[in-house]
Amino acid sequence: MKNAALKPGMAAAQHATRIGVLLPLPLAGPYDYVIRQIPAPPRGTLVIAPLGSREMLGAVWTDGEGALEEKRLKAVEPLEGAPTIPLALCDFIDWVARYTLAPQGQVLALALRARSAFEPEVPRIAYARGGTTPAKMTPGRQRVLAVAADGLARSIPALAEDANASPSVVRGLIDCGALQAVELPEFPPFDAPDPNFAEPVLNNEQHEASGALGADVRAHSFSASLLDGITGSGKTETYFEAVAEALRSGKQTLILLPEIALTVQFLDRFAERFGCRPAEWHSDLSQKERKRVFRAVMNGEARVVVGARSALFLPFEDLGLIIVDEEHEQAYKQEDGVIYHARDMAVVRARLEHCPIVLASATPSLESHYNAQSGRYRWLRLRERHGAARLPDIKLIDLRQERAEPGTWLSDPLRKAIAATLDAQEQAMLFLNRRGYAPLTLCECCGHKMTCRDCSSWLVEHRYHRRLTCHHCGYSEHTPANCPQCGAAGSLIACGPGVERVAEEFRNLFPHARMAIASSDTMHGPLETQAAIRAIAKREIDVVIGTQIVAKGHHFPQLTLVGVIDADLGGSDGDLRARERTFQLLHQVAGRAGRAEKPGLVLVQTRNPQDTVMQALANTDRESFYTQETRWRERAHAPPFGRLAALILSGVDDDLVRETGKVLANAAPSARGVRVWGPTPAFYHLLRGQTRERLLVQTEKSVDVQAYLRTWLDSVKIPNNVRLAVDIDPVSFF
Ligand code: ADP
Ligand code: ZN
Repeated sequence: MKNAALKPGMAAAQHATRIGVLLPLPLAGPYDYVIRQIPAPPRGTLVIAPLGSREMLGAVWTDGEGALEEKRLKAVEPLEGAPTIPLALCDFIDWVARYTLAPQGQVLALALRARSAFEPEVPRIAYARGGTTPAKMTPGRQRVLAVAADGLARSIPALAEDANASPSVVRGLIDCGALQAVELPEFPPFDAPDPNFAEPVLNNEQHEASGALGADVRAHSFSASLLDGITGSGKTETYFEAVAEALRSGKQTLILLPEIALTVQFLDRFAERFGCRPAEWHSDLSQKERKRVFRAVMNGEARVVVGARSALFLPFEDLGLIIVDEEHEQAYKQEDGVIYHARDMAVVRARLEHCPIVLASATPSLESHYNAQSGRYRWLRLRERHGAARLPDIKLIDLRQERAEPGTWLSDPLRKAIAATLDAQEQAMLFLNRRGYAPLTLCECCGHKMTCRDCSSWLVEHRYHRRLTCHHCGYSEHTPANCPQCGAAGSLIACGPGVERVAEEFRNLFPHARMAIASSDTMHGPLETQAAIRAIAKREIDVVIGTQIVAKGHHFPQLTLVGVIDADLGGSDGDLRARERTFQLLHQVAGRAGRAEKPGLVLVQTRNPQDTVMQALANTDRESFYTQETRWRERAHAPPFGRLAALILSGVDDDLVRETGKVLANAAPSARGVRVWGPTPAFYHLLRGQTRERLLVQTEKSVDVQAYLRTWLDSVKIPNNVRLAVDIDPVSFF
């Protein structure tokens, strides 16, 4: 524990208590201060603490325990209204820091991201009908008073507009006392979702599952359930009943979604069920909106919050339920700063809050599937699509036999199916998880590959903009006319397809179809994505050619054909989760087809039709895939049968990074059940100009990997210009 030392002479006041204050900075623990209160306020109380020449928001965290004399400690000031981080959240912050090895203060920073939330409220001034009647009456004045007759308070512009009068008329009425100033709170209150607003009629499976979840909510204790239902089975409808139950018990609910893009359709759906929108929390909110939501969560006014992973750190007053939708999604893993998995940490938070958690997915992560199978989680299954909808027919197209001409990507069967779909006035989606025109540009003469200046990755051609772009760092250059290595003219050729290239082929084949490309290059930000998704849902577009951005979670009732352009992409990278991810993604994509009355067809183009992933897809035999994959993990002592942690070193001085890697590896303590691999250059060994080396720690399940790492890392001095990131339970191996 360190001390915020005082300049001599600045003695703290008497009648003060020593406290440990955690500041939202990358600091390992609280600093000692004093507060002029006896006894000290409780843990979590927010204070303003001097630090150097600055003042910052901090939280009372521990009893101070440093050695420095009390009179040499600086004093903190309590905040107006003494807002407090709830105790369960304080414990959660400690827990996350311990688990991820992130500095405690950096985790606190995640919970204090709404900087303005603790500034005093700025009341809005509005005007309502006052006691006096003006001596002089004009038609304008009469109209204003007629509007104000309902007794509601309005702003000057609002009164002027509603009465079709000028603001000066309104001001005249204020001056003579006919209108009186009223202070309104800074923000309008949140509407309360109504659990009984539009109760659905559930089918049997849904009813059973929602009954179980409802009982959990009423029990006010920790429990974990995997809501495992095929795409279109009504998982949302089902867990909404648990949300209704939480509302009835007066408890708050947190619903986590993996991507902001998914929230838009979701908010509408929520409003249809509960009569109003829930509070939202994600990185796209303005500071003002953050302030509003943060305060409302803290004082209990916001009953339901829908958010991205950072919502996990909100100060719920009385949390009664957590839902993690699409729990298998990789987007739940925060890859920089505090590196944490929001799904796993959500389970921890539920435990600390003594409330149930529901993990929902059609393709659960292998870990959750295993937990359900072994009885650690309750396994609630929905095996049928709701209503008339049936699961789509999935067929593999063997690309080794259905050879398309070089430079084309749509096989004959897929072309025919598209034509038939268009004839039937139905919708199709062609899926390829690759942005741009072509993933690789190379010189026909010398074989030179166009790579990024700052990363060890290929530049992706974006033909429309005539540019080559790095998808890792954003570096971009004009597509050169000549090969930069051998100078040959016109020798650069595009290799492989991206969505733009498939779109080009499609346009040549079906010039009259209404087609849209959906990728993060064509849809900028949540608003554009939302507009595109609405347009697809309303069938203003016949064929969507897109990346995973439109492939997940959405409900497009008219969509009957899904074509997967290249199912083998990213299949065998030697990455622990590559196969699982391919399976989940393709399953999700396939699940977009035939979600309403019309049956769906999914055509999957592959060069490996015998592969278990493809077979499991085609036979819709999900369990055989999980069984195989689980067995493989068990043999490899991989999670959930063992533990993994990655250490990533990076820096601009490549010799120093490599040297540090070696020093680190040599310092690894030997311990039973622990193996350390590496250092090896990371897959992208150069990223944004930084050299990257990785070490991987693999341990038996019983090993306390955090304790092991702490001992190890404490024994090594990492040079200042080398960064070390610790990734517990890594998801990405790049
Ligand atoms: P999932 O999330 O499991 O893929 P959804 O919850 O999106 O499935 O449901 C698919 C579709 O079926 C949605 O349009 C939903 O409104 C509808 N649906 C599901 N269950 C019911 C129900 N009990 N009553 C009415 N509509 C339902
Ligand atoms: Zn780059």
